[in-house]
Amino acid sequence: MTPTFHYTVSFLEPGDHVYQVRLHMTDVPEGRHILSLPVWTPGAYEVQDFSRHVFGLRLESNFKAIPLNHEAKNRWGFETFGDSSTVTLDYQVYAFELGVDTSHLDASHAYWNGAGLFMWLDDYQSEPYTVKIEAPAGWKVATGLESDPHTPNQYVARNYDVLIDSPVECGTHQTLTFTVDNKPHSVVLWGHGNEDAVQFTEDIQRIVQAQRDIFGSLPYDHYTFIVHLSDRGTGGLEHLNSTTCGVSRFAFKPRKSYRRVLGLVSHEFFHLWNVKRIHPDMLGPFDYNQEVYTRLLWAMEGFTDYYAGIALRRSGLFSVPEYLKGLGENLEAYEKEPGRFVQSLAESSFDTWIKLYKPDEDSKNRTISYYLKGDLVGTCLDLEIRHRTGSQYALDDVLRRLYTRYAAQGIGFPESVYQETVEEVANSSFQEFFDHYIYGTAPIPIDTVLGYAGLTISRSYKDADKEDDIDAPTASTPKAPWPWLGIDTRVVEQKIEVSTAYTTGPAASLLQAKDQVIALDGYQVQKVEELNDRLRRNYQVGDTVTVSLFRRGQLQAIPIVLAEAPFNKVEVKPVTDPTPDQRAFFESWMKAPFPVPDQK
Ligand SMILES: [Zn+2]
Repeated sequence: MTPTFHYTVSFLEPGDHVYQVRLHMTDVPEGRHILSLPVWTPGAYEVQDFSRHVFGLRLESNFKAIPLNHEAKNRWGFETFGDSSTVTLDYQVYAFELGVDTSHLDASHAYWNGAGLFMWLDDYQSEPYTVKIEAPAGWKVATGLESDPHTPNQYVARNYDVLIDSPVECGTHQTLTFTVDNKPHSVVLWGHGNEDAVQFTEDIQRIVQAQRDIFGSLPYDHYTFIVHLSDRGTGGLEHLNSTTCGVSRFAFKPRKSYRRVLGLVSHEFFHLWNVKRIHPDMLGPFDYNQEVYTRLLWAMEGFTDYYAGIALRRSGLFSVPEYLKGLGENLEAYEKEPGRFVQSLAESSFDTWIKLYKPDEDSKNRTISYYLKGDLVGTCLDLEIRHRTGSQYALDDVLRRLYTRYAAQGIGFPESVYQETVEEVANSSFQEFFDHYIYGTAPIPIDTVLGYAGLTISRSYKDADKEDDIDAPTASTPKAPWPWLGIDTRVVEQKIEVSTAYTTGPAASLLQAKDQVIALDGYQVQKVEELNDRLRRNYQVGDTVTVSLFRRGQLQAIPIVLAEAPFNKVEVKPVTDPTPDQRAFFESWMKAPFPVPDQK
């Protein structure tokens, strides 16, 4: 007999932030067993030790307690004998962490990400699980789980992976719906702000349609967008047929901020293909007991960012200028990071557990985000494949082949398959490309590949005074380089504190993190903006400025020779006279007419 697993989750007093969880198991074989709770959750590559919120475990069979032995931080052992094959485990989970990958329970709603709530028994991860949700009267449930047609408020997961891959939002949320390809989609909003829920839902529908067009069909029966609106954004987490996005409640205006909201939704939705179905073999089935290592997060996360933008462009939600503006902003952010010449994308992926998710004051100097660089390398790879194949093939084809050969069979692929598939699609070697930009730290060929599409990159300095100084001449003379100390600052207890000293800046070995900056050349500075403005307006590259600061409480004055700042205005612009090839290339890529160059 195979054991069966039935969960009951109740929270009749939501204000106490405690879930009562019961796991009822039948046909448990006689002998020693282990119950475990994941230490991490797929999609967030960070050990979170969810068991720190678990308490009050009790195990019984036939009304008799069975001793539980806490054997490791996330594991409990027990033994069954003879007639004790039906076993009930009760425990409680404190849930007051509002995040997409955590659990939160209060008088306004119940939300959980399954990894923090549900234990599994031994090797029984392939068996079906049922979950009964006992909620306060009037609360409704939104989840990607299948409803049990026979029992109200009961849901079915075909295995443990699906159980914990299906977050649950329960409360009095607002629900909007639409269909694409006759498949129902729900947009579930907890909280309010300046959202236009109807417009937001229409925009999400366009994202779904644009991404469906890349793959040809939608590989699920229904999809749920859980959106938390609260005082701060908490990011997103992807699942097989749902996502949770944590959005700042007033992020729906202005347009610039709403673009980021749409970008987040588009990113999480694209993951239903890229990482949830198309993934390296290390990313499913999962080892929930420890970190799992892959060198491919640039493809899983960075390329998902790339396609989030592409889908928004192809759907018409982003205009061509908006898309190119975002590309310029990403480039500017990337070209500022000294870490891009230190850590490769493959290393950044592998070390995510100890670096990307555990940043410190030196991160910008020694690491590069596989999101930021992965997105740009996705652009380079897509455009290079298109270039080499006369726009007959694209990165889309790489993803479609990986989908058909692996994802559709429910399996992951060995890491080497990624490059092999790119080479097969393009019918040429990408060894140098992968050696330089994935496994190495060579400067990325972004200028060259954008040139295929008739685009150029302009790198310059902002004219920061233009808005204040409307009578200033507007002739497009190049702006002088901004003088630069080579530090980032932040405000801590109303004091200006150095957060990073760039290894590429003039203060690299002179200033350090946590230095409290108080004056420039003897005159007090009180605000970060004042520090930057005074430097920019009153000094030039090559000038020496004496920075007064407290270091561990000791007053110091340190002279520093100002250097040239990295460019802070990076724009991607159409060339004025594109060749027919460039025009056709652009239009095939962007699915839009080649833009008329800005005459300004
Ligand atoms: Zn992601």
